Amino acid sequence: MKVYLINPSHVSFGIGVITPRWLYVLASATPSEYGAPSLIDETLESFDVAAIEAGDIVGIGIHTGNALRGYEIGTAARAAGAFVVFGGIHATLYPEEARDLGGAHAVVTGDGEEAWPALLRDYTSNAVKPRYDGGRIEAETFLPGRWDLLPAGRYMWASVQTVRGCPKHCSFCSVWRTDGQRPRQRHVSRVLEEIVDLRRRGFRFIALADDNFYPVTLEDLRMASRRQDPSQLTRLQAIRAERLALMEELARLPADTVFFTQITMEAAEDHEFLDAMRRAHIKGALVGVEAVTPEGLKDVYKNFNESGDALVTRLQGFKDHGIHVLGSFIFGLPSDRAATFDATLSVAERANLTFAQFVMLTPFPGTLDFAAWEKSLGDTPPEFNGIPVSRHWLIPQSNRPKVYMHHPVMSADEIRQRTQEVWDRFYSLPSIWKRSRGAVTSLKARLAFLLISKIYRQMYANTGIATDSARVNRSAQWARLMAIPCRRLFAGSPMPDLQIPPDRVPETLLAIQGRRGSGSPSPGHPSA
Ligand code: SF4
Repeated sequence: MKVYLINPSHVSFGIGVITPRWLYVLASATPSEYGAPSLIDETLESFDVAAIEAGDIVGIGIHTGNALRGYEIGTAARAAGAFVVFGGIHATLYPEEARDLGGAHAVVTGDGEEAWPALLRDYTSNAVKPRYDGGRIEAETFLPGRWDLLPAGRYMWASVQTVRGCPKHCSFCSVWRTDGQRPRQRHVSRVLEEIVDLRRRGFRFIALADDNFYPVTLEDLRMASRRQDPSQLTRLQAIRAERLALMEELARLPADTVFFTQITMEAAEDHEFLDAMRRAHIKGALVGVEAVTPEGLKDVYKNFNESGDALVTRLQGFKDHGIHVLGSFIFGLPSDRAATFDATLSVAERANLTFAQFVMLTPFPGTLDFAAWEKSLGDTPPEFNGIPVSRHWLIPQSNRPKVYMHHPVMSADEIRQRTQEVWDRFYSLPSIWKRSRGAVTSLKARLAFLLISKIYRQMYANTGIATDSARVNRSAQWARLMAIPCRRLFAGSPMPDLQIPPDRVPETLLAIQGRRGSGSPSPGHPSA
């Protein structure tokens, strides 16, 4: 009997950009009596379900984008006599769907670290239940990945999580509803242990795979300092102090370590935080810009972002502190007009973004946008091949529309074409070459930057926006070819003798403890 953990994907690139962390974390959570599970990542290679045998246990983790492929695998696994378990964000939102369409015997909702081993133990004692609610576990119980199971030379970036949850409430995002709005921060020493483990194995590039690495903003602190009751301020200061303490420790890692993370744009005004990021080897961050106009920001409940020229200045602030930005923009918002596409490209270029992604507004389950959209469709939503558009993830990939939400002035095809054009222009050879000058110095590094930019576009734009499957397949093949040399650029030398920096109490924690001890939390942030 074998235990499989499967990350489904309808498209494979041979090389993965970032390790799918959940596979390795659930491998850690698998009780030892089951042995090491077989970890299957279909973003590398598609999986031949014929390998599954009667009596095997098959765990499939799905988000909305890969749910349909997950259901195909689950159904085939059940037919082969396996015990099928679904988990992940989409299964949390639609446990019945995983049962009805994916052949699930059991579904794990919420965090999997405790629920998955509980299920396996019940399975051993013939007491397995159809549903395990993992809820939201505390950060002390987050597990490191079993990185000893990683296939050699297949991923560019490793991934480590430092915090789960996001206090914001963007309308297109489900993170704050599934992972919660209270940041659950992992202990600094647990994070360090895992990073050192990965560096020993030869990973130099590590993604801090957090919902939001910057959970407390200066504005949060200013608002809390105006309250009569100081408890909120104390709580926020403690969260911030832990972030800074983590970065103090990351700064003690070998100088060639490169981290990448996700933060909100408000971090641009927090110079102390940005400087701490730079010292901590956090060289880049995905920043959700989303829209360049005030109306667009209102559309997505992201009023805390800037727009227009103020937005350009704010984004440039990251670069001034040595942080490269991957800016993320959304097209198809109700306030978007034809001119929005050019305006967005202009902001991305003027703000010196190192990379950018341009996604089309898609109503994902679990978000406020989805709830409003589903309601607006009424009891009889339009159908594609007999599937209601409100269940768009069940439409086969090759027929799946790219734009779902009605737009007041643009057709779906116009939004798709204009989005594609923005990708093409931002990632044209002359544009990439020009950007490379500001990103790296040597000719070799500039050529590497060019290759990485092209592969990024190939993986995320062409396979995501193209409407015909032939183009998607061609893009995937190109990405496969480019991914091999690209992966070599990310490879580091194993550092088997690297030691975890010895324990000490970081100064930022001492500072916050001192303030707590005095019983008089200082109002606002020190640098505010
Ligand atoms: S988009 Fe980013 S900032 Fe907004 S809720 Fe999601 S994780 Fe938080």
